[in-house]
Amino acid sequence: MESIYLDEIIQATGGKYAGTTKNILIHDVSTDSRKVKPGDLFIALEGEFFDGHDFIKDAVHKGAQAVLASKPVTVKQVPVILVADTSKALLDLAAFYRQKFPIPVIAVTGSVGKTSTKDMIASILSAKLNVHKSKGNYNNNIGLPLTIFQLEAKHDAMVVEMGMRGLGEISELTRIAKPSLAVITNIGVSHLERLGTQENILKAKLEILAGLEDNGVLILNANDPLLCKVDPNVAKNIVYVGVNTPAHYTAYDVRNRGEEGISFKLNLGGQEYDIQIPAVGEHNVSNALFGIACARRLGLSPEQIISGIKNYTPEKMRCTLIEKNGITFLNDCYNASPDSFKAALEILHHLASGKRALAIIGNIFELGEIASAAHFEVGRLCSKFQVAFTAIIGANAPDVARGIGDPSKYKIFDSHEEVVRYMKEFAKEGDVVLIKGSRGMKLEKILDLWEA
Ligand code: ATP
Ligand code: MG
Repeated sequence: MESIYLDEIIQATGGKYAGTTKNILIHDVSTDSRKVKPGDLFIALEGEFFDGHDFIKDAVHKGAQAVLASKPVTVKQVPVILVADTSKALLDLAAFYRQKFPIPVIAVTGSVGKTSTKDMIASILSAKLNVHKSKGNYNNNIGLPLTIFQLEAKHDAMVVEMGMRGLGEISELTRIAKPSLAVITNIGVSHLERLGTQENILKAKLEILAGLEDNGVLILNANDPLLCKVDPNVAKNIVYVGVNTPAHYTAYDVRNRGEEGISFKLNLGGQEYDIQIPAVGEHNVSNALFGIACARRLGLSPEQIISGIKNYTPEKMRCTLIEKNGITFLNDCYNASPDSFKAALEILHHLASGKRALAIIGNIFELGEIASAAHFEVGRLCSKFQVAFTAIIGANAPDVARGIGDPSKYKIFDSHEEVVRYMKEFAKEGDVVLIKGSRGMKLEKILDLWEA
C-alpha cells in the first residue's frame, strides 16, 4: 500500500474522532489482528464467528497506529475512529484508495473459472505491464478491498475476481473497483439455491456493469447459452470470445495435447497464430480468449500475448497434475460445481486415453433443489467418460451412485480415511485419478493421507 493520511481515511469513511489526527500516516490496512504490522490501520470487522472489536488491544499491541471501530472501545494509545458499520467503511476506504490510481482495472465474475481466468489474464498482461491481481480467491467484500489496498504506484493494471452468493453483491464490489474491462465467464447453476433461476444468476452477474467506466468494455462468452443472448444495449461496448463459434475472438482447431496442455488457433489482425497453453483442460481456451481480448484492448502485441500465455501456471488444487508412485492425480479439490465437474471428467478422460481412469468424488454444495439431479448427472458423466471405478463420499453419494448405475464401478465411503485405505490398494501404476469436490469436502486431505 502507498501510505495515506489518517485524515483522508476519516474523510473517506465519514468516521468520527474527537482528538487530533494531524499528520498521522497509515502504511497499510489490516482486518486480522494476527497480521497487523507497525503503522497499520486495524479495522474491527464483525464476522459470523468472531468480532474484531475483541482483538483491538492485540492489534494496538502489535503496532496498529489507528483503529476503525463501530463500538466505543477503551483504547487510549491510538486514535479510534468510530463509524456506523466497519464493513461499509472498509468498502468506502477501498473505493477512495482505488481512485488514486488511474490505471485499467479488469474485473472477472461468472459461475465457474473466475480465479483461473483472473490468473490467465494477469499472466498475459504481465508480458507488458506490471500487474497487480487478487491473491487466490480474494473475491468478496473483504477480499476485494484488501486486494485494492495492495495497489502501489508501480502497478500499470489490476485484475480482480468478484464472487457472489446473491443479488446486490457484485454491484457493491464493482462500484469500488471501477473496472475498465468487465469479464463474465459463464452463467452456471452455482448458487441456484439462493437465486432461484439462471436468469437471476445472469442478472446478478450483470450487476458488474454498475461500476464499469464510461468507455469500459463488457467481455462475454459466446459459447454460454445465456450470455450469447444478452441484450446488446446493456453496455456501450460488448466484446465476445468463443470457441468454434462466431465472436470477436474465435478459437478454432483446439487440440488436446495430453499432459503438455492445450493448443488452438486464432486470427489476430488478419494473421493466424498457433497458441499453446501449458495447462490441462479445454476450459483454459476460453479463459485464454478472455485474456487475449483484455490484452488487445490494452495494446499488447500478438507476440507478447503468446509469451504471456506460456507463463500461465494454474493454482494449486485447481486441475493440477501430481505424480505419486507412478499414479497420476488430477488434483481438482479446490471446489466443484456441475459445470466444472463436467470439465474435470472430460480432462480425466483425455489424460487417461489408453490408461485406467479412476475418480474420488465428493459433494457439490449449495445446489438447493437440483442437488439430487446434479449429483446423478455427475455419476452419469463418470460412466459416459469411462471412469473404471469411482470412490464416492458425502451426503449425495447415493445420487452419484445411481448415475453410475453399475455397482461394480463405484463404492460409497464414510470418511476420507476409508477412501484412502481402499483406493491405495485399488489404484495401480499408470492409473489416472481425479479428485474433486466442493471446498467444504476438504478433499486435499486425500492426498495428505495417501502420503502418510
Ligand atoms: P469460486 O467460486 O470457488 O471462486 P471460480 O469461479 O474462481 O470458483 P476456479 O477456481 O477458477 O473457479 O475454477 C473452478 C474449477 O473449474 C476448477 O476445477 C477449474 O479447473 C475449472 N475451470 C476453470 N475455468 C473453467 C471454465 N472456463 N469452465 C469450466 N471449468 C473451469
Ligand atoms: Mg475463485
